[in-house]
Amino acid sequence: MTDQNSETKTAPTNFIRQIIEKDLAQGRHARIVTRFPPEPNGYLHIGHAKSICLNFGIAEAYQGDCQLRFDDTNPAKEEDEYIQSIQRDVSWLGFEWAGDVRYASGYFDTIYDCAVELIKKGLAYVESLTADEMREYRGTLKAPGKPSPYRERSVEENLALFEQMKNGDIDEGAAVLRAKIDMASPNISLRDPTLYRVRKIHHHQTGDKWCIYPMYDFTHPISDALEGVTHSLCTLEFEAHRPLYDWVIEHCALPAAPRQYEFARLNLNYTVTSKRKLKDLVDGGYVGGWDDPRMPTIAGLRRRGYTPASLRKFCEMVGVARADSVVDMGMLESAIRDDLNQNAPRAFCVLRPLKLVIENLPDGHEEMLDAPVHPQNEALGTRKIPLTREVFIDREDFLEEANKKFKRLVLDSEVRLRYGYVIRANEVIKDAAGNITEVRCTYDPDTLGKNPEGRKVRGVIHWVSATRNVPCEVRRYSRLFNEANPDKVAEEGLTFLSNINPDSLESLPAALAEESLLGALPETRYQFEREGYFAVDRDSTTEKLVFNMTVGLKEGF
Ligand code: ATP
Ligand code: MG
Repeated sequence: MTDQNSETKTAPTNFIRQIIEKDLAQGRHARIVTRFPPEPNGYLHIGHAKSICLNFGIAEAYQGDCQLRFDDTNPAKEEDEYIQSIQRDVSWLGFEWAGDVRYASGYFDTIYDCAVELIKKGLAYVESLTADEMREYRGTLKAPGKPSPYRERSVEENLALFEQMKNGDIDEGAAVLRAKIDMASPNISLRDPTLYRVRKIHHHQTGDKWCIYPMYDFTHPISDALEGVTHSLCTLEFEAHRPLYDWVIEHCALPAAPRQYEFARLNLNYTVTSKRKLKDLVDGGYVGGWDDPRMPTIAGLRRRGYTPASLRKFCEMVGVARADSVVDMGMLESAIRDDLNQNAPRAFCVLRPLKLVIENLPDGHEEMLDAPVHPQNEALGTRKIPLTREVFIDREDFLEEANKKFKRLVLDSEVRLRYGYVIRANEVIKDAAGNITEVRCTYDPDTLGKNPEGRKVRGVIHWVSATRNVPCEVRRYSRLFNEANPDKVAEEGLTFLSNINPDSLESLPAALAEESLLGALPETRYQFEREGYFAVDRDSTTEKLVFNMTVGLKEGF
């Protein structure tokens, strides 16, 4: 499969690239540094792919660096499995982070020092109000907050209390460290935001060293500055936090002054892009796991058959703007369809087999027919398809009676077996219940590669040999949710889970693929002629290949 990295270099411009080009032109930075900062609390999803393509794409385009940093300030929800999967997904998408993987937790010492410095400058204090009281004091969008009675604690008292917090002498919830900014600010995130809280839990990176953990809004600017990040790109929900980001950069002694820029989140219809909701789907058993092919996770899309190039292309098509929007799932599907149409080898797979006996072929007849691997790309060569006396066609490709519009096999008429001969259906065999079990045919030996004279053939159908084939299970998927916006629920009290499509997985356990697919490895992708695009699943065994349907041949569901 071709999978060039080149398209990102020519990616269309956007407002962030324009800012960077201006910064470079004005000599503001010698080298551009970005970062992708996931919290390891779930698998990455298609929305993250947008952020990854943006951050790594910019580093590539301007010969800068993009770092991978785990924003691991909330150890209660974080796991090593997520740390591993995130690295795997970023690499698979085709990007390389600069240097080692970084962890915000790697800066906990410095972040702590910054907090102590702020206390010494009179810019932070230990709060002893309860969480409920703090909420009450914070005010609302319309009403200003009011100062806490603990706001004017002395520097010495604050230092001593913060030290106690650090040493585990203060219970969770009994105290937090707050920045002393402005309780009357119209921007609520500036109303003395929390910088540190007590959490007496084990951290996957720092073990039991800390029982206080810095908040995201405090950690993030410091981590960016320590890593020399020049442009800290995040999604729009952080826009209101930008003044706090700048406040931290201004008041802590840091080696650099990164700037934050916000862009719109990617939302896709008929699915959810929130790690929390995706975790609900996994934990609730609604899907088989984070990499279930119905999941909009990168791991799920990969298993479904998406290529890295198709996801990068999709992100490029979506673009980077400041307006929130919902992208149609069809756009994602068209990105992979275009890729596979160009690159996937063709194969025959009969999804619902119906036996067809070619009576004028002798028992044991085996004739190797040639078929192109890709009809538009001769360089890929040909594959051999064995023709035998008994073959299988798809049940949907045969009718006892039909009008002229049915371009497949009908009793007493002719159809071509693709890359083979024209056959005529002469007789139908049925079981006691009246189900068709077999179709008896004859073939015209004079029709290989040419049409019969004076007769009309209805169409061309795919087929596989009954004796030389590969048994398969084919899994077809439809949307995971019945609602374009899964959060739109029918009644109050229901959640997005009420919109799950109960029929999103259809298994065809008795499919048969052509012999050349024997031993195909997981993630190999094919176009099954007339059916769609399919990828080998990791559930495959030596006895049976398992395929996931990636996408249909044409747009439309
Ligand atoms: P989620 O709500 O799914 O947990 P998050 O924003 O909390 O998402 P993070 O791990 O914090 O997830 O995200 C890492 C980076 O990816 C952040 O810079 C974030 O802004 C970006 N990101 C997350 N979701 C999207 C999305 N839907 N579209 C674009 N960027 C996203
Ligand atoms: Mg988050």
